[in-house]
Amino acid sequence: MKAIRKETPTPGVTFVKNLPESAHPLPGQIKIAVAAASVCGTDLGIARYTPAAQAFNLKLPVTMGHEGSGTVVEVGEGVTSFKPGDDVALDSHIACFDCYQCSIGNAHICDRMQLLGLHVDGLFAEFCTVSASAAYKLPQGFPLEAAALLEPAGVAMHALQSTGEPMLGKRVVITGAGPVGLFIAELAKLGGAAKVVVVEPNPWRRAFAESRGAVALEPSENASQAILDLSGNRGGFDVAFEASGHPSGFGTAINALRKAGTYVSVGFGNAPVELDMGEYLNRRGITMVGSFGRRLWSTWDLLVALVAEGRLDLDAFITHRVTLEEFDHALELLSGDSCKVLVIPSAV
Ligand SMILES: [Zn+2]
Ligand SMILES: [Zn+2]
Repeated sequence: MKAIRKETPTPGVTFVKNLPESAHPLPGQIKIAVAAASVCGTDLGIARYTPAAQAFNLKLPVTMGHEGSGTVVEVGEGVTSFKPGDDVALDSHIACFDCYQCSIGNAHICDRMQLLGLHVDGLFAEFCTVSASAAYKLPQGFPLEAAALLEPAGVAMHALQSTGEPMLGKRVVITGAGPVGLFIAELAKLGGAAKVVVVEPNPWRRAFAESRGAVALEPSENASQAILDLSGNRGGFDVAFEASGHPSGFGTAINALRKAGTYVSVGFGNAPVELDMGEYLNRRGITMVGSFGRRLWSTWDLLVALVAEGRLDLDAFITHRVTLEEFDHALELLSGDSCKVLVIPSAV
């Protein structure tokens, strides 16, 4: 089968034309025919073999791809929740469902987590054999391309859940209008936020954010004041989501908050940042929370319901579709004028 592989601990990826088709599923596994797989910033990092990608301790060689959907073609012994013909989307975090965190309902931060497409063969291929515990069964007729976006949209949904507060009437600022930042903006608006402001250097992404109903600002020397001017009479925003992973995003986001506002760390960069705890946590009373992955499976249930009821249009975030052969082009698109880029393995 065709696949995109990371074979050696060096920059680059390999398009393989005749990889043996993925194996029959072992007990507890399912085999799926991949319908669509979404390309993400992590894939670009793996391709370039950046320090952040190396920190994942990749298990090479590996078939890449960790956001996607498909149809079950075979199930292993003991699998009762899935049968051939079922449509599924996969969580990239393969939890053990056995460790302490899993036992208290925190499977998204499982102590023995494996990552699809980084530690086990992933979705940039025609077929993928994977633990059934990482699969979410889609309702009948759920569009498979939109399903490939449930993983990254889930990051956004979980970030909103992490604030522990409703968005209704809130003024919200987001630094970084990559796909996750844009999903946060979309969901915050759906949740009733009064105003959503995104701060993003790329003009195409700013325009995209505005087309979705957000106010978009360019980061600049005096951006902090310009942002604060949009926050109304509360002395700052109620909630700030840092979704860029860029060190400057931290300062922009936290300084945009009102007293007793909430800071949510979503993107994560490579370098530590400094924080004056006395000023921000004591005097200003800022609450800081971090968000990682998605809740299994409450995040998924909420998103699937929004899509199924026509309240959330994930297709609107798909800007490009490529074949496996065109994967290098997909990586180029990622750092340019695009939102979500899908790889369609069956396309030629
Ligand atoms: Zn990803
Ligand atoms: Zn676990």
